[in-house]
Amino acid sequence: MVKTNTNKDLLKEKGFLSQRQDDFFSMRLHAAGGNLTSDYLRAVADAADRYGKGYVHVTSRQGIEIPFVHLDDTEAARNEMDSKDIGPGASGKKIRAVVACQGDRVCKRGLIDCQGICEEIDNLYFAEPVPYKFKIAVTGCPASCLKVQENDFGIMGFSESVFVEENCVMCRACEKVCGVSAITIENGSLYLDMHKCVSCGSCIRACRKDAMQNQEQGYTIFVGGKVGKRPRMGDMLLRTSDRSVIFDVLEKSINYYRENAQEGERLGDVIDRVGLDAFRETIKYP
Ligand code: SF4
Ligand code: SF4
Ligand code: SF4
Repeated sequence: MVKTNTNKDLLKEKGFLSQRQDDFFSMRLHAAGGNLTSDYLRAVADAADRYGKGYVHVTSRQGIEIPFVHLDDTEAARNEMDSKDIGPGASGKKIRAVVACQGDRVCKRGLIDCQGICEEIDNLYFAEPVPYKFKIAVTGCPASCLKVQENDFGIMGFSESVFVEENCVMCRACEKVCGVSAITIENGSLYLDMHKCVSCGSCIRACRKDAMQNQEQGYTIFVGGKVGKRPRMGDMLLRTSDRSVIFDVLEKSINYYRENAQEGERLGDVIDRVGLDAFRETIKYP
């Protein structure tokens, strides 16, 4: 079979990324949020045995690739995955599969339903065309295990505490648990430094006397992050306790990116060029 660029482009559309070895491809599969069912894993294991070399590669974005699929097997391999309802992964100028931690379904520190948000966003936007590439991450708390600040659009859970002095018995449990030293107890008084506080909610969980209470809980949204050759940390855009705001801001951000990006620009490059204030103004979130 003659290998042409058109062939390669068609294969890339179907998730086959060319390897350094002629006529071999790494078959990227759609997977969002890192939760894979046992059926999915069995189907992938079978395909890796049949078409690859009996192993898979887990990508940096919680995805799965089966390396060493020969050009002659690509059609059969894709058909087999289709029959198991496993679509191709995205590459090129597309919205990539959403990554997420386990959030409040599993993790003790989780403040939001990362997997639910991930699934909803992935259903809405996965593989939609964009000017260059667009990566989305959801992480359950400010520990940011899913590195939302490195993504074009990131969602992080937050819990803001408020100190209720009359309930406090000065046990110091909150002081011990605070990883950023935002709480200090001196001379019988507790000081909560909101400039240091990252709103992780740990002190609220640690307090047995209801003296650290949850003032507000919700979602912090970051925009414009990326890594690669020119890394850029995402800007904190807003905090909200309204889940629907995430989807509204995401839709507006993607549309803004589509309308304003120049050749090769990520959302962060656009924000650097126009300014964060102009971006905020356009998407109408102060
Ligand atoms: S980001 Fe927070 S909720 Fe998510 S896995 Fe890490 S510690 Fe748990
Ligand atoms: S854990 Fe609660 S009771 Fe103990 S010092 Fe902190 S706020 Fe006060
Ligand atoms: S919310 Fe987290 S960072 Fe803030 S004071 Fe409590 S433990 Fe410290």
